[in-house]
Parts: sequence; C-alpha cells; structure tokens
Amino acid sequence: MVRTQVVIVGAGPAGLLLGQLLHKAGIDTLLIERRSAEYVASRIRAGVLEPGTVEVLELAGVANRLQTEGLVHEGVEIGFRGHRHRIALKELTGKSVTVYGQTEVTRDLMDARAELGAPTVYEVDDVTLHDIAGPAPRVTYRLGGVTHEVVCDFIAGCDGFHGVSRRSIPDSALSVYEKVYPFGWLGVLADVPPPWTELIYAASEQGFALASMRSPTRVRCYLQCSLDDRPEQWSDERFWTEFRRRMGDDAGARTPVAPSIEKSIAPLRSYVVEPMRFGRLFLAGDAAHIVPPTGAKGLNLAVSDVFYLYEALRGFYRESDGDLAERALDGYSPRCLRRIWRAERFSWWMTRQLHRFPGDAFDSRLQQTELEYLFESRAAQAGLAENYVGLPL
Ligand SMILES: Cc1cc2nc3c(=O)[nH]c(=O)nc-3n(C[C@H](O)[C@H](O)[C@H](O)COP(=O)(O)OP(=O)(O)OC[C@H]3O[C@@H](n4cnc5c(N)ncnc54)[C@H](O)[C@@H]3O)c2cc1C
Repeated sequence: MVRTQVVIVGAGPAGLLLGQLLHKAGIDTLLIERRSAEYVASRIRAGVLEPGTVEVLELAGVANRLQTEGLVHEGVEIGFRGHRHRIALKELTGKSVTVYGQTEVTRDLMDARAELGAPTVYEVDDVTLHDIAGPAPRVTYRLGGVTHEVVCDFIAGCDGFHGVSRRSIPDSALSVYEKVYPFGWLGVLADVPPPWTELIYAASEQGFALASMRSPTRVRCYLQCSLDDRPEQWSDERFWTEFRRRMGDDAGARTPVAPSIEKSIAPLRSYVVEPMRFGRLFLAGDAAHIVPPTGAKGLNLAVSDVFYLYEALRGFYRESDGDLAERALDGYSPRCLRRIWRAERFSWWMTRQLHRFPGDAFDSRLQQTELEYLFESRAAQAGLAENYVGLPL
C-alpha cells in the first residue's frame, strides 16, 4: 500500500495541470491514467486559450513555449450568408486569445512533470475509488495484472466525461443538466499554412463551418454534419468542396485542398453536474461538464476548475485549524459552477446562432435577426467578445 496526499485520476490537461500546480506548492500527488503516454500526447482537441488560461499556465511554469510559439489573435470573424463581420476582441475588451494546440499544452505539462520527477502511472485498469465520503479515501487500480492500493487525503477526478470518478458518486447526490444537439462536428487537420489570419465562424444555408488553425503550418477546420455520418464517408475532396461552399466569398476561394492527417466526428453536448464535490472527491474539467466546442471553452473551463481546486487544496494544507482547513474546500464547487454556467450559456448561444437546426421557421428567422443585430450593434459585439476572451477567473 502506498500513501500520497492527492491521487489525480486522469492525465488530460486538467490532471496534468493540477499535478504541476500542487507539486510547486509542495503537495504530493500520484497521477494515474488509463491510456499510454503516447496516446495522451497525440490526442487532437482544443486550440484557443483565454488570457486567464495563459496566466494559469504561467503560474504553473509551463508557458515558455506557448509564449514563443502561440499565435495571438485580436479578433474573430463571423460569416453569414456571404457577409463577414470581424469581432474586434482586443479593441472591445482589451484582451486577445492565443491559438496553441491542446496537444502542445499536454506535451509541455508532461515534460514539466517528468522534470519534477513526480509519479505518473500510465495504462492502468480497473480504477476504483473507495471511502470517498470519509477522511481517508483510497484508490485501487490494476497494472500488468497486479492490484495496487493508494491511500490519500483527496481524490481529484480529472478523468473526462467517460471516466470513473463522476460515476463513483451516488446518483442521489448529484443533479444532472444535459442538452444534446441534433448534429455533430466533422473535424479535419491538415499540414498546410492557414490562408486566414483569424478564426472564421460561418453560418450558411448548408450548415456551420469553422476555419481555424493550430500553428502557422497547420489548419484545423470543421463542418456541421449529421450524427449518422462516418468520417470515412467524407473523402478529403468532399470535405474541402463542402467547406468552400459554406465559407463562401474569398475565404472559400482561398481554402487549401490538402490531405487530412486526422479526420473525426464529435457529437455536440451541453452537460453539467452539481455539485462538483462529494466528500473527499473533487471533479474537475470534462468529468463534471461538457460544452459544445463552438465557444472554444472546454479546455479553458478545465483550467479554471483546476486553478480553483489548487487554491482550495493549498488553503487546506496551509491551515492548521481543522475547521478553517475544511472551510477552504467548501468554496470549490460553487466557485467553479458560477463560471461554468456562464460558459455553458455562451457556448449554447454560439451554437444556437451559427448552426442549422432542423424544423422551426420561427427559430430560423430569430437566428437571422440575432446575427444581423450582432453585425450592427457594438454593444452586442462587446458581449460576444467579453465571453469569447473569457470571464475573469
Ligand atoms: C473529440 C473532441 C474534440 C474537442 N475539440 C475541442 C475544441 O475544438 N475546442 C475546445 O475548447 N474544446 C474541445 N474539446 C474539449 C476539450 O478538449 C476538453 O474540454 C479537455 O480535454 C478537457 O480536459 P480534461 O483533462 O478535463 O479531460 P480529458 O482531456 O478528457 O482527459 C481525461 C483523461 O482521463 C483519462 N481517463 C478516463 N477514464 C479514466 C479512468 N477510469 N482511469 C484513469 N484515467 C482515465 C483519459 O484517458 C484522459 O486522458 C474537444 C473534446 C473532444 C472529446
């Protein structure tokens, strides 16, 4: 049997970042992960970082490469029926976003953890949480056919939407809020320099499209697609032809036709569980909530949860009075949920305005009216910009 202060389940960005912040604060962690290190490092996902996220990565000491290689974007463009309108993020809010792939954030965090010599166990099976309601929780897992047991003060459930942590909490202790959207996103990654300088979110008659990038030599583009579609039904040629059609005007004409190096379909969902704590188990990141990617909030929310959890645990260990120490933990869930619900609202709103929904002509006219209003009203643009760059931590 091993003992540590905090067992972190899941080595995605939430788990790795929490481990980094806690180790810098002198708090021991053991990080356990179901997949191999290579698999975790190569997972392609988010890419837009809020300034608050960059600050937390700086605090964790993992922002050197991000500062030199990240692309600072001072605006985003919204396209609708052949017109494009730039939302001037910097001018409207004083803030910019940074384009830096989640794969790169993960790599920086993995390198930093290896440098610290902090323990991470990959490719574990049968992770089970025990005694989470009491003061001495335990985690068991299997590695190479052998069962291991770890006793700890706290468990951080950073194991994503399909992880074991949320499922370890009794149903009766959780409230679940969920909305599933009637379409998915087909994403393509291609090694070609992006011909656009800022992200373009396009609402078209055929559905939504997003022109994005991960670096000066790599584009990441998406199409709204049917939930019945399979990536293999979309040849590269079919993808780029449809992408050009939805982008329209000069952005469409400038679109590269490049071989994809990754192609996948993700369903869109809004999901929140409350509270994010049960006894000595704390949920963080996708383990507790999901947003549709339209607002670019998933990774950013995982980082803000982790920052609040780091503050709560640091407060606990610094406090010698038992009651006060417990009180340091109490604020975690309400503090996270306040920010999460705002990001949920914004992500739902962006999804609602930019995608083609089946049916309802009234809703469709409202969608058009909303976008026309957005293009004409500086106040509406300021609201979008404020949420896009992220509300304060
Ligand atoms: C396909 C896809 C595309 C996305 N695209 C975007 C995007 O474009 N923009 C955006 O903002 N966000 C996007 N997101 C969301 C963003 O990537 C997530 O919000 C972010 O990864 C959350 O980080 P996390 O660490 O909480 O969870 P995850 O990244 O899911 O990490 C959880 C980790 O826990 C591990 N794990 C799971 N179960 C167990 C277990 N039982 N035991 C041990 N380990 C376990 C997993 O293997 C994984 O490594 C996307 C998500 C997906 C799935």
